[in-house]
Amino acid sequence: MKYISTRGQTPALGFSDAVATGLAPDGGLYLPESLPDFSGDLVRFEKLGYAELCCEFLRVFATDIPAEELRVIIAQSYTRFEDPAVAPLRRLGKNLHVLELFHGPTLAFKDFALQLLGNLYERQCRVRGESINVLGATSGDTGAAAIYGLLGKPRTAIFILYPDGRVSPLQERQMACTGAENVFALAVDGTFDDAQNALKDVFGDLAFRAQHHLSAVNSINLARVLAQCVYYLYAWLRLPAAERGNVEFVVPTGNFGNVLAGWMLQKMGVPIRSFRVATNQNDILYRMFTTGEYRIGAVHPSLAPSMDIQVASNFERFIYFTVGRDPAKVREVMQTFKATGAYRFAHFNRDTFTASHCTDAEIPGIIQRVYREHDYIVDPHTACGFRELDPARVSVVLATASPAKFPDTIKAAIGLEPTHPSLEALKSRPVVKQRLKANPAVIKGFIVDHAV
Ligand SMILES: *Cc1c(COP(=O)(O)O)cnc(C)c1O
Repeated sequence: MKYISTRGQTPALGFSDAVATGLAPDGGLYLPESLPDFSGDLVRFEKLGYAELCCEFLRVFATDIPAEELRVIIAQSYTRFEDPAVAPLRRLGKNLHVLELFHGPTLAFKDFALQLLGNLYERQCRVRGESINVLGATSGDTGAAAIYGLLGKPRTAIFILYPDGRVSPLQERQMACTGAENVFALAVDGTFDDAQNALKDVFGDLAFRAQHHLSAVNSINLARVLAQCVYYLYAWLRLPAAERGNVEFVVPTGNFGNVLAGWMLQKMGVPIRSFRVATNQNDILYRMFTTGEYRIGAVHPSLAPSMDIQVASNFERFIYFTVGRDPAKVREVMQTFKATGAYRFAHFNRDTFTASHCTDAEIPGIIQRVYREHDYIVDPHTACGFRELDPARVSVVLATASPAKFPDTIKAAIGLEPTHPSLEALKSRPVVKQRLKANPAVIKGFIVDHAV
């Protein structure tokens, strides 16, 4: 299987190279050149456990990795999940389920992709005899999940920048209390945007980037989207047959990576009725799917911080399909959007997407209601999914984070403070972080001293 760029101006690559490259050189995002059809495999898939199902799915895409090696990588990637089902589906009522995606090491769904990506990076280092230095900026969950994907791996180091004092204390502890020698938590002065801009400058220095084998952690990596397809398939196979064709997956959405994965799976022959794009008050995608206009907004920090985005970085992959797989048209859309901050689609086809948005003022009330009606505690991101459900469809709400990561919001809503042993354990460990200026030269200096 080959992977092409949404902007069509760069050669197609094999799986491992597309994963290692991340963003395509023409500024586009990698996609499979054609989508396989799994409709004839679904009965056979019913009997498989999570890791086995993941193997059957990914081997169609990762055709340049020997099957046995891929099997070992996948098995390793899902051993650190604490629930035996990995992604348990729980019924809350008639026509209502939650898919719990928070049983990985950092208690958020990003572990599904980043545990796998860490192991793919490790393999790449081994095969090429090279080291790799991974670099990213985070305002929340991604940094921790990326760190736990690479924790203690040979020939790798990971540097995560975050705005000092502006991530939650628990999120900081997840990054700064690992004790691992290859992990560097860099607390920079300024905002998330300052950290991100400094990082862009570091990556913009191509000679520096090549010399230190720098690789970016971000939400657009091809492997992340493909790894995320698997839990939709797993959940669909666990639904009663009578519910499957009427299912709407409800997805708390920021950068559109999660919900895109489900939608792509549907295009691979899995009969799913629809997908709900559930945003918080940063609702560029809600507006897109209700009006056909993609217009940039300012970021308003919210109670669901991992969905606080200005533009949705994976949305370009959907644009590619919606403009009839025409890379020239994708370039036109993205250029207009970049130049003017908006693009209006003349004949926008929302396909099977529905959309909702949820303000901060609504989140505590939703947490209360779900607790009262279902005796179930949802985190503030998942709460956005529960804002409105279509009673005529079978809703599967994706629970993207554990409520224990957001004890203050939960306590304010229902008077209970959820805890988790792994987070409690972090509280007794020392915070080891480097305070740095959000300045590219300073950050490069730190990398030179600590890179592998
Ligand atoms: C990252 C994240 C999201 C948003 O996912 P996208 O793939 O960016 O749409 C939602 N909830 C939680 C808890 C997250 O960490």
